[in-house]
Amino acid sequence: MSYALQLGDYTEGYRFRLQCKACNYGWYTEPADLLQHTDTHARMYLDETEHMLVCLACKKHKVIITPLIIKPKHHFVGGLG
Ligand SMILES: [Zn+2]
Repeated sequence: MSYALQLGDYTEGYRFRLQCKACNYGWYTEPADLLQHTDTHARMYLDETEHMLVCLACKKHKVIITPLIIKPKHHFVGGLG
């Protein structure tokens, strides 16, 4: 069982915070917007998506994705391992 979620698992209620590890530029995007990219699809894992993204500022492949819950669902998803 994998801990990793796929891009399509982040539907309504999530926002992605993106940050570049090279230049520290950070920005936000909606998961649905990422899915509009020709290179992405709903079955991609977040780390795969990170490898595909380039920084808006320096154009390097150093982007990390942090999913943020902006609209909690009914079921609490705990982070206890
Ligand atoms: Zn950058």
